[in-house]
Amino acid sequence: MNILVINCGSSSLKFQLIDAQTEEVIAKGLCERIGIEGSRLVYTPLGGSAQGHAVQGQKQETVTPMKNHTDAIRLVLAALTDEETGVVGDLGEIGAVGHRVVHGGEKFASSTVITDEVIRAIEACNDLAPLHNPANLIGIDACRELMPETPMVAVFDTAFHQTMPDKAYMYGLPYEYYEKYKIRRYGFHGTSHSYVSKKAAEVLGRKYEDLKIIVCHLGNGASVSAVQNGRCVDTSMGLTPLEGLIMGTRSGDIDPAIIEFIAHKEGKNIDEIMQILNKKSGVLGLSENLSSDFRDLEAGYKEGNPRAKNAMETFAYRVAKYIGAYAAAMNGVDVICFTAGVGENSDFVRKMICQEYLGYLGIALDEAANQKRGEDIAISTPDSKVTVMVIPTNEELAIARETCRLTAER
Ligand code: AMP
Repeated sequence: MNILVINCGSSSLKFQLIDAQTEEVIAKGLCERIGIEGSRLVYTPLGGSAQGHAVQGQKQETVTPMKNHTDAIRLVLAALTDEETGVVGDLGEIGAVGHRVVHGGEKFASSTVITDEVIRAIEACNDLAPLHNPANLIGIDACRELMPETPMVAVFDTAFHQTMPDKAYMYGLPYEYYEKYKIRRYGFHGTSHSYVSKKAAEVLGRKYEDLKIIVCHLGNGASVSAVQNGRCVDTSMGLTPLEGLIMGTRSGDIDPAIIEFIAHKEGKNIDEIMQILNKKSGVLGLSENLSSDFRDLEAGYKEGNPRAKNAMETFAYRVAKYIGAYAAAMNGVDVICFTAGVGENSDFVRKMICQEYLGYLGIALDEAANQKRGEDIAISTPDSKVTVMVIPTNEELAIARETCRLTAER
């Protein structure tokens, strides 16, 4: 069965068509600038049963108007079934659609088949993720309109973290805010934390349920999670993705009184300050706007730029502090995994974190293994007391697996 995986943003839509049996990606792409002038579809056919073999692997870009997400999905479906460039004969070959949904609140502790009732429950979480959930719902609506007979599944970024105990998810605020508004830690990147922690156990040939694993998802957005005996027990992102690590442009943890302080000093309102904390802070802000991209920061560091050096050191220090906190939370740690853009690609950042701070855990880095790319590997030495690994994340595959599992049961 082929599964179409959709990740819908407010003006963009990423997709992959995955063969659930072979787990091969047979086409992928994205629509950008939906509803804005200059919308375009980027589409790459990669395999599959049908026509289009001559163009396999060739990326195609089409600039064409898309006034809304329904237009965008219509174009994606047309590309997938196109006589020349398509990868399936007709839409009947798409067995199910898996949608990434950012916030499932407390309602969704696992993925679910989409029904009208599920859509209403996702809408009820819109307040908790006003930038993301409405866009995810637009994608779901558009797909339901164009493929009314095809089963759809929602896979939530928050679901994996729903196993956290209340001591990990409660904030030190008046309890009534939890009761009235469900203000608590939810955590994000759950699909990635789940995929990577399971994969680590599989690669090590160990039982998932026997391990204490810390996953460091270090991308433009970044979060750490503690996974004990196969269940998430803590994670660094909170009510929103702003909490926790220093990220590309997000501040991560700060003293909340800083918000009042900046408001008074700079004459800014709450929306303006939230914009600064989300878009102008993190390593971008720390480096005096040099870059939010770690490749640029690493180059700056090596050239002796003091702001780039400080941004990277502050980032690495915060990651190391979370690792220490989660080792304490689980009373030990067996495996530490690095994943996502920075975690998978930057041996420099991994070395900064492991060598500078984690020696007390008995961690010894294998410098040659740390240089490798694109593999599920251990980067610690065989005698290291904790196994440190690089596990490339694959959220689309995890969504496809969930979608297949739930729709095959029907
Ligand atoms: P993600 O959000 O997981 O897609 O990660 C994107 C981020 O990964 C980029 O903003 C870069 O900071 C980082 N990144 C990608 N490739 C590299 C690399 N080779 N070295 C360091 N950082 C990288």
